[in-house]
Amino acid sequence: MQDKKPVGRFAPTPSGRMHLGNVFAALVAWLAVRSQDGTMVLRMEDLDRQRTKAEYAEVLRNDLQWLGLTYDLETPPQSTRSTIYEQYFDLLREKELLYPCYCTRAQLHSVNAPHQSDGTYVYPGTCRHLTAAQQQAMDKVPSWRLQVPDRDYTVTDRIQGIYRENLLYDCGDFLVRRADGAFVYQLAVTVDDGLSGVTQVVRGVDLLSSSPRQMYLQELFGFPSPEYAHVPLLVAPDGRRLSKRDQDMDLGYLRQHCTAPELLGKLAFHAGIIDHPEAVSAAELISEFSWKKIRKDNICLK
Ligand code: GLU
Repeated sequence: MQDKKPVGRFAPTPSGRMHLGNVFAALVAWLAVRSQDGTMVLRMEDLDRQRTKAEYAEVLRNDLQWLGLTYDLETPPQSTRSTIYEQYFDLLREKELLYPCYCTRAQLHSVNAPHQSDGTYVYPGTCRHLTAAQQQAMDKVPSWRLQVPDRDYTVTDRIQGIYRENLLYDCGDFLVRRADGAFVYQLAVTVDDGLSGVTQVVRGVDLLSSSPRQMYLQELFGFPSPEYAHVPLLVAPDGRRLSKRDQDMDLGYLRQHCTAPELLGKLAFHAGIIDHPEAVSAAELISEFSWKKIRKDNICLK
């Protein structure tokens, strides 16, 4: 059972301007929390130091304010939390569930393995059974993988319905730490959501297949699983997913061409929350929100 008052989160990656798809996920996350008098947490996911910048984080905060998508607290950005991630990494090591992986990118790509729904390869376990002597003979700094069980994980998604994955056959042992020492998204997000007491995760459907991995990590770390809701993607009329390359879809452009209520009204209309595409503030949408209204299929805005 979920707590009556949910704790939700915005978890943007400050690698550029917010895109309409991010705004859509943020709007639904916000409405779900505010309609139940919950708490909203903001967390900057800046694990990738090459792509992310503090300036973008500042612009993101400003864009959320412009949209009227308020938050109650901001937790420290992921880039400052490696010591905490390290503790959870050590916990997995103590459970003897980690092993070093020496596979090169080229090796991983040449493997004739099935694909996951997000297009990545199912890891065939190449390095799982290397002996200590074989590991020592590798002249290379390894990355670290987590052994997964031959078990189904079932996500009961508020929007997408039931999504099931067998971690061993549909995913394989997955990376938790890269050879350069950086922790990967799956580990960081599970630790952060768990420690912030997040009970409701709303994000794009492209991350649905990450949820079983995060549920497995939650189990290992002793965190309860949150409720999940994966919002549909925004697509172009030809079905192509809208991306940061579609300039007219980013907030830099949109803020110059429409007001926040116009933008929110359009999104809320296409999502199924309101019946007409009229200008409406985020606050005015709270009473209109219900999970039943949110469309499951990809949304074409044009
Ligand atoms: N940081 C991710 C993004 O910007 C979202 C991760 C999540 O919501 O779990 O797409």
